[in-house]
Amino acid sequence: MNTQIDSSFTPDALVVGGGIAGLQSALDLADQGLKVLVVERQASIGGHMIALSKVFPTLDCASCITTPKMSAAAHHENITILTSTEVEAIESAGGVHHVKLLQKPTYVNFDKCIGCRLCEYACDTEYPDPFEEGLGAVKAIAVPFTNAIPQKAVLNAEHCSTCGTCARVCPTDAIEFDQQPRRLTIATDAVIVASGFKLNSITVKPQYNAQRSQDIISPLTLERLLAPHGPYGRVLRPSDGKIPGSIAFVQCAGSRDESIGVPYCSRVCCMYSIKQAMLLSGALPLADITIYYMDIRAFGKGYEQFFQNAKAMGINFVRGKVARIDPLDGGDLSLHVENTEEAENPIAERRHDLVVLAQGMIPGWNPAAATPVACAADGFVATTSLTAPTATVAPGIFVAGTAAGPKDIVDTIAEAGAAAMQASQYLFQKRAEALVG
Ligand SMILES: Cc1cc2nc3c(=O)[nH]c(=O)nc-3n(C[C@H](O)[C@H](O)[C@H](O)COP(=O)(O)OP(=O)(O)OC[C@H]3O[C@@H](n4cnc5c(N)ncnc54)[C@H](O)[C@@H]3O)c2cc1C
Repeated sequence: MNTQIDSSFTPDALVVGGGIAGLQSALDLADQGLKVLVVERQASIGGHMIALSKVFPTLDCASCITTPKMSAAAHHENITILTSTEVEAIESAGGVHHVKLLQKPTYVNFDKCIGCRLCEYACDTEYPDPFEEGLGAVKAIAVPFTNAIPQKAVLNAEHCSTCGTCARVCPTDAIEFDQQPRRLTIATDAVIVASGFKLNSITVKPQYNAQRSQDIISPLTLERLLAPHGPYGRVLRPSDGKIPGSIAFVQCAGSRDESIGVPYCSRVCCMYSIKQAMLLSGALPLADITIYYMDIRAFGKGYEQFFQNAKAMGINFVRGKVARIDPLDGGDLSLHVENTEEAENPIAERRHDLVVLAQGMIPGWNPAAATPVACAADGFVATTSLTAPTATVAPGIFVAGTAAGPKDIVDTIAEAGAAAMQASQYLFQKRAEALVG
């Protein structure tokens, strides 16, 4: 893994994003002997998947699947990875893509840092840990998380007290307080956009009052609470550390809703909520768990059985839309629900002490603003036809994973492989034409 490159570096292909889609595409290209540059804006590769607890429908440990892929990419002789680096724009001319990158300062020289974490242990400034969705604390200089790749410390300038302790304890003189943002342009023949998704804001629906209670949480927060190596090591309510006794999942809390500009289905929310409910019932056997849903979309292989297993485990499914959530004095949350299966009294008020909102998936990046790639009306990368699901309108630029629309890991991996195949076919054809012409 090389982190010091300049514009003379010309990879065969550049992958935007080091999530599971980007890593799979990079590995498939690199295994064919092609040189690949993966550019990731976060301090570690792994994307959303490395932060998940377990995955549906197998309930395998997410990091046990993701870490080997991250490691394989990091150690592949044909793959170079740049972290803390953002793809800002792509200019294409004469079949060559000029990819403009912004490398953010980490204030640590990665060639010197040995990942010993002495700086982290010595640092006495902490801030809410973004990897733990703000629940735990992380030092101002730290390796981003336990299985982060690269295992290099990164200094957060916003939270640094500039006391200089990290520089004094570093055994390899790796701390560089004078690092500046660096811009560079990389020329390449093919690009795979694997810039993924983000969740829409937890406060996008004001009637759910998430801004008024710490116990109305995001599904990513629950993933961390459920992770064995999560912030508390067990599931506790964020507001007061109490073990929750009654948990509600509110489906379609940020999707299938024209009023918030997300009319489409985010596809994975039904399945991840069912998964989280099953994991919760294992972690908190006495808890009462209810999923409020409009309809359950269990579309994949083995998914319907997974849903049936959850019902058999005693998870309550209530078919009805949650209209409003009110935080009450004393910490409970009051849900106003229309239960469509209740003919006599469909409108009900139910109380829970932890609520998880199934927020909608929205694009992680908008390439249409600064690249030849076009986006569809939903903001995700537009593809050219049903029979070429990884081709974009720009020749030589392909798309993989949730950058093209909401999807689960199985479909993301399949699409990443397809994008790599299309990109390599494009590259080998280009080489053959150059030899002939
Ligand atoms: C709460 C939750 C639970 C889930 N559970 C499951 C599950 O159990 N099973 C399952 O199959 N699926 C699950 N999913 C879906 C799964 O997370 C996705 O299918 C998968 O992570 C998509 O991977 P990706 O690589 O497409 O995107 P991401 O993981 O979002 O990766 C994209 C990467 O690109 C980077 N990036 C973006 N823009 C730029 C840029 N301009 N320059 C550089 N880097 C950039 C981002 O930082 C990110 O690291 C879940 C989703 C959620 C929200």
